Amino acid sequence: MSFEELGLTPDLLRAVVDAGYTTPTPIQQKAIPVVASGRDVLGCAQTGTGKTASFSLPMIDKLAAGRARARMPRSLVLEPTRELATQVEAAFEVYGKYHRLSTALLIGGERFADQERKLDRGVDVLIATPGRMLDLFERGKILLSDVRILVIDEADRMLDMGFIPDVERIVGLLPKNRQTLFFSATMPPEIRRLADAFLNEPAEISVAPPASPAKTVEQFLVAISPDDKRAALRSLIASEDVKNALIFCNRKRDVDILQRSLSRHGFDAAALHGDMAQSKRTETLERFKNSEIRLLVCSDVAARGLDIQGLSHVFNFDVPYHPEDYVHRIGRTGRAGREGRAFTLAAPDEGKAVAAIQSLIGREIPITAVPEIDTAELDFTGKERRRGGSTSRRAAAQERLLRPARGEPRREKTERAKPSREKTEREERPRREPRDRDAAVAVFPARDTRRQPAERRPAAAASGGEPRVVGFGDDLPAFLARPLKLARA
Ligand code: AMP
Repeated sequence: MSFEELGLTPDLLRAVVDAGYTTPTPIQQKAIPVVASGRDVLGCAQTGTGKTASFSLPMIDKLAAGRARARMPRSLVLEPTRELATQVEAAFEVYGKYHRLSTALLIGGERFADQERKLDRGVDVLIATPGRMLDLFERGKILLSDVRILVIDEADRMLDMGFIPDVERIVGLLPKNRQTLFFSATMPPEIRRLADAFLNEPAEISVAPPASPAKTVEQFLVAISPDDKRAALRSLIASEDVKNALIFCNRKRDVDILQRSLSRHGFDAAALHGDMAQSKRTETLERFKNSEIRLLVCSDVAARGLDIQGLSHVFNFDVPYHPEDYVHRIGRTGRAGREGRAFTLAAPDEGKAVAAIQSLIGREIPITAVPEIDTAELDFTGKERRRGGSTSRRAAAQERLLRPARGEPRREKTERAKPSREKTEREERPRREPRDRDAAVAVFPARDTRRQPAERRPAAAASGGEPRVVGFGDDLPAFLARPLKLARA
């Protein structure tokens, strides 16, 4: 099927050709005619599927006739993050280049005065994050009674980030007589409930999520102690032919720490996360896209859905808590048929997250060694060594990383253990400790005790005997195991 067959007007077709598109993607083939017909849409699709054009192309056609009045936008696109909102605005610019539609971006971190000035001039397409949108509404700067098309994009992300009450408020402020396009990568019951509340007899459109990363991405897993992760990352960057790379951390605090560490070691690295001022985020991203910075250390939320052309590498400094995030992260490379390489550094306590990823993508990620980093120093507990029998150390590491904790089905346990994204990004939770010490010992490789100072060796090794003190498990500090020398009276 061609774009012509989808009934796009000549100006839109020219813009699509200019963008370099020859064939509509599946979501575009399904959604464009429905949106053009005026029907509501419930779309199950992720970023990377061509979703943005699937709603923006027909929207531009519909909005081409008519003019916006001051402070009364004619359509509203809600996005969960500033970066996605910025990207969607850029897409409207590309697809609407032969139209005279005005767009405005309302995102946190930008000056209110600039945004208000744009609104005053009249806006056809308003792209906003929910919080800033409500701020401006409450200041009386926007009237929503002219909104005829509403897009709620990435609804499941909105839910994860705690934005749904804001979205519900905004929808309550809009005219009932409107077209609503609702997109979500997944459809959990809460999202279904919202869709039922917001949509009127929608056409349900679903395209397969990219559960399998592009074949052009070569994936590797490095089983490593947390203490060796930074050195391993430096070694990989030095040994790989890294043109430019995204380096993902699970927590914002770690993004800053890692960026500073890389810079100290002479690497050209910048940070990108949700706590940074918007102007700095935008500037950093631009510099990275223009190849002025080679390494960008980032969090999931800041980097989600970012469309960066020609990225050579992705490094997961932490294994993502949500297995789908793995697919998103590594999908930043290997785009448009280019080769890409993705390395995931997995510490002993991240084995369950690795198992969840491998279960989602339906294959094992090959374990690789890191130049100059002695991964062989990683060892397993006595319990595991006995069980491992004749298996080689690397094969045993792989096996342990793959195996979920004893007694619980793999999937459920992983999902229950997931912290919400909001907490991951906003509250900087401390790293979770394994609840069951035995399970942790059984599943994950541990650091070789021979390298540890005597004070931290397991009690039996440190004292030479088999002392056991209730409550200390195997980690009895050595000084507690020493015989007491009591002075005689
Ligand atoms: P999206 O899922 O909307 O974020 O789009 C992901 C990427 O696919 C963006 O770089 C778009 O420019 C690109 N894209 C969208 N539609 C097409 C198409 N029909 N052909 C080729 N690339 C496309």
